[in-house]
Amino acid sequence: MKLKLFFALFLGLINVTFSQSKIKAIKAGKLIDVISGEILKNQIILIDSNTIVGIGSNISIPKNAEIINLSNATVLPGLIDCHTHITSQPSGDYYADIFRKTPMDYAVTAHIFTKRTLEAGFTACRDVGAAAFVDVALRNAINNGEIVGPRLKVATLFIGSTGSHGDLNGFSPFLSSQFPKQMSGVADGVDELRKQVRYNVKYGADVIKFGASAGVLSEEESVGAPQYTQEEMNTIVEEAKVWGRKTCAHAHGAEAIKMAVKAGVASIEHGSFVDEEGIQLMKKYGTYLVADIYNDDYILSEYGKLGYPQKIIEKERLVGRLQRENFEKAAKAGVKIAFGSDAGVYPHGWNAKQFFYMVKFGLSPIQAIQAATINAADLLDWKDKIGSITNGKFADIIAVEGNPLENITSLEKVKFVMKDGVVYKNEIKK
Ligand SMILES: [Zn+2]
Repeated sequence: MKLKLFFALFLGLINVTFSQSKIKAIKAGKLIDVISGEILKNQIILIDSNTIVGIGSNISIPKNAEIINLSNATVLPGLIDCHTHITSQPSGDYYADIFRKTPMDYAVTAHIFTKRTLEAGFTACRDVGAAAFVDVALRNAINNGEIVGPRLKVATLFIGSTGSHGDLNGFSPFLSSQFPKQMSGVADGVDELRKQVRYNVKYGADVIKFGASAGVLSEEESVGAPQYTQEEMNTIVEEAKVWGRKTCAHAHGAEAIKMAVKAGVASIEHGSFVDEEGIQLMKKYGTYLVADIYNDDYILSEYGKLGYPQKIIEKERLVGRLQRENFEKAAKAGVKIAFGSDAGVYPHGWNAKQFFYMVKFGLSPIQAIQAATINAADLLDWKDKIGSITNGKFADIIAVEGNPLENITSLEKVKFVMKDGVVYKNEIKK
């Protein structure tokens, strides 16, 4: 312990000696401490290169520091969205999106969405399903500083059974696969599933995502029915664990949710029809709920115009209202909540619109913010790196005008964005 402290001090000294010109000092009029849930006034945050090295109300600012004046703003840690599909969004032509585009189309436009997401204040995302490893290429290009975007943890191919939400449905068997087999993620039975998990990891998956139940935005029949057996779900989670990966499950139906929780997934995505037994199971297993409770409004008002079949829109009508009611029950029962919006179903950059619904359906404003900061960082296994403004963490910091604890929608207008110590946006009035 003492040795560690010595090294920390030693390294600290080296930083001060050699990188003084890189020191930035943020003057925060108000700062939301997401750990205590309190607002701190007149704080100074010192940043050395990409790391927070000091925070407090009476710390001295080094002489050569670059001062960033956010005295008129409320500062908080960068937001984290645990459920995005950052490689695409609906173009307005349903059939073109499925049949006339290739992953290359998504690859050349995705950087637009990563930039938009970052500028909206989301400095990290867990991207849970993308075509043909486009997400891996994006993550790597962002990490290399070649394009602008949030830190990404990516799931690569969505793993689903034959005929499931993850397969292509509703068409002739002569059009049975959009992608070559090795790019489809469709796998059945324990042997194929083990291989699919290994395959995804081999080509860059940080997290494994599979379809435990049917879904909304596909043409298979049901929304809630389980689409894997218990044994298959257990296999996916177990194999992912071997490779040090967490698993998340797309699950709407009550039965599928319980099966996935028992299999040991880290999070349930959507969770629309979760029942009392499922809520208790999630509490017992410490499973996070990641529920996309904004996009219902967008789907019902826009998807008809975007050319989606009526059948899909009817499914959303069935799911949306119940999902919000059940979210409220789960939140009030004390299920762990992490923020996830399914961005890509609606336009990227609108992620923060979901906060309003999280507060309307059961969370306090600080709980909603915690869902998108410390809780999300915990789910992503990045608790030591991001999720709060704390010494030693990466400088992922945002600011808004107004106070989100009084008006949560102020998070829809993020005016200042710093990621990894670099300022990407500053529209705060001086
Ligand atoms: Zn999704």
